[in-house]
Amino acid sequence: MKAPNTLLANTGTTIFTVMSALALEHGAVNLGQGFPDADGPADVVKAAADALLDGRNQYPPLTGVPELRAAVAAANRRFWGIEADPATEVVVTSGATEAITASLMAVLDPGDEVVLIEPLYDTYLPVVKMLGAVPKLVRLEPPKWELPRAELAAAFGPRTKAILMNSPQNPCSKVFTAAELAFIAELLQKHDAYAVCDEVYEHLTFDGWRHIPLMSLPGMRERCMRIGSAGKTFSLTGWKVGYVTAPPKLAAIVAKAHQLLTFTTPPNLQRAVAVGLAKPDAYFEGLAAGLQAKRDRLSDGLARLGFGVLETRGSYFVSADFRPLGFAGDDVAFCRWLTETAKVTAIPVSAFYSESGADAAAAPRHYARFAFCKHDATLDLALARMEAAFAARGAEGAGRALTA
Ligand code: PMP
Ligand code: GLN
Repeated sequence: MKAPNTLLANTGTTIFTVMSALALEHGAVNLGQGFPDADGPADVVKAAADALLDGRNQYPPLTGVPELRAAVAAANRRFWGIEADPATEVVVTSGATEAITASLMAVLDPGDEVVLIEPLYDTYLPVVKMLGAVPKLVRLEPPKWELPRAELAAAFGPRTKAILMNSPQNPCSKVFTAAELAFIAELLQKHDAYAVCDEVYEHLTFDGWRHIPLMSLPGMRERCMRIGSAGKTFSLTGWKVGYVTAPPKLAAIVAKAHQLLTFTTPPNLQRAVAVGLAKPDAYFEGLAAGLQAKRDRLSDGLARLGFGVLETRGSYFVSADFRPLGFAGDDVAFCRWLTETAKVTAIPVSAFYSESGADAAAAPRHYARFAFCKHDATLDLALARMEAAFAARGAEGAGRALTA
């Protein structure tokens, strides 16, 4: 028989599924895959349940129910000062995952170049390649993850069609600064390129760091497809409701891609997310403040255990260097050891780097990513388990090689 699609056949199961399965197998506290262990606001969940019972369960409009498109437009204005026409500039999708693919489909032709920033979310590269486009990777370096301007400028060229960027960023929890965004905006204008802006963690920023949508910068309104996720904004990751805000010409093409991918998104969830987006500012502030306290709890605990903990300015995640603990193995081996022995699961940060290309071997392999969007008791249990496992390992380890 002829081989099926080569790229998909060679794509591994996502690291999030792999590590969640391993966590289950070993009864580990799962701080790997990024999902909160408490559901979001009860009134939003109830709105979804009520909407199932009121007889509107057939295909909703292709670009989303009017209530949600209006709510997305209102949220753009309220939080970011972006004016968007709900009728022509908002497309609702089945999660940000679909929104990212649909936005890339909307602008890329085979052979176009796309600038991507490592570390990167796991769907980006395969989708760019599936579309026949050519990825141009630029790498942020720990511990500060600052934008390497010269490398970024060098990645742009006459064939650049778009940049795909993520801020606040998973996994390194960077929030792009106004100056970095201005630099990107200048490159986009110089090279007449688009931006697909994955902003799923737009409301999850800490310590006074504030998310700035690239779309809100001068000259960027016409070039950006700005993506949000109800999963992250309302702690309901299983719902998979995403939304793209884009100028009318682009939004119309994103809608064509959505038409081919899923056509519509469950109407009851859409109506409930509209209720959520209309919540007062206090809800959004409380969400960030609650997560900031959890970040502190986990970061402080990891530092006490001896990890080299990196700064987390946004998102659900803290990354920590495990070398100070005496582990000489790589992050995949460490995360496996941690799950099997300490019964705590984290994600190896190297999973967020391309496996091929000139720089693949130089990707960092000494960070584990821990999700802190969990009950305090869960975070405490994970820390206690790690403390016990490190102590046991230390007691037993004198004579053997300190590899994970
Ligand atoms: N982008 C990033 C950076 C993410 O971390 C996630 C997490 N799930 C997504 C996109 C996907 O969002 P959704 O669940 O809405 O598809
Ligand atoms: N975005 C989540 C994370 O980074 C996982 C989403 C998924 O499992 N696909 O952990």
